[in-house]
Amino acid sequence: MSLLVLLGMIATPPAALAGRPGGDPAFGGPRGELEASAGFRAKRPGKRYSVTVPIGKPKPSVALPRIEGPADTRLPLVVIDAGHGGHDPGAISPHGGEREKDITLALARAIRADLLASGRVRVALTRSDDRFLVLEERYGIARRLKADLFISVHADAAENRQARGASIYTLSEVASDREAARLATRENKANIINGIDLGAHSGDVSAILLDLTQRETMNVASEFARLLQREASDEIEFRTTAHRFASFIVLKAPDTPSVLFETGFLSNKEDSEFLVSSAGQRKVARGVRDAVQIHFARRIAGTGR
Ligand SMILES: [Zn+2]
Repeated sequence: MSLLVLLGMIATPPAALAGRPGGDPAFGGPRGELEASAGFRAKRPGKRYSVTVPIGKPKPSVALPRIEGPADTRLPLVVIDAGHGGHDPGAISPHGGEREKDITLALARAIRADLLASGRVRVALTRSDDRFLVLEERYGIARRLKADLFISVHADAAENRQARGASIYTLSEVASDREAARLATRENKANIINGIDLGAHSGDVSAILLDLTQRETMNVASEFARLLQREASDEIEFRTTAHRFASFIVLKAPDTPSVLFETGFLSNKEDSEFLVSSAGQRKVARGVRDAVQIHFARRIAGTGR
């Protein structure tokens, strides 16, 4: 079902909209790519009404990255998002000083190489150099390219240097635990520079969209998360509870199944050495490649699992 149809379903009857030419203030002002602007405006009051929901306020959008791989556009498209970048280094390893933004880019490149070698999917990276993108731009790229899967790659850090292992996050307004909630808060702060939220994210609207448009997308994302853990666990160490949930802005594309892959803890010596090494990066890439192949094979077969 399309986003617009679903938005139509949640529209308030025209009577309730009278006197609100700018839209319900509860829905906020103009929003970014997803949250759009909020003026749910009824046309032809009294009749079967239509609802205008502008998707994306006119703000300069980032250039779309090149899609690599086979020319056959029927093949699934995977967008890999290297977390952080530019002025935002992400976590920094206390062991060798390596920065998360560099590790995520190396991982994204390794994953791209393995996926392209498989010849079964097309691939695009949200960034292939050291640049900053706000979170909405990252999933915005996936949506504009009509990606079939979005994988945001990160590496965690914790006070407790013993903490280690990878985890896979999918979207939920309610976090699976306090640690997941804290992590989402930290990752969502990538949008904030000098106190200004560059993403101008709206919690109200996103909650509604989340509820009504994203269930299927979220189910697919959860299936992929489980698969990724299963396929990659030969290659990399996962935490005991590897599939977790939290409200990450970067996962909020309503129509692109999205996961955030925390590949390990830079604060842990073993994890940090693993993620910095090209051998470790190749292992992560192999795990993702295997999961992606099975994921799309299942979807094409229509089994879903
Ligand atoms: Zn991160």
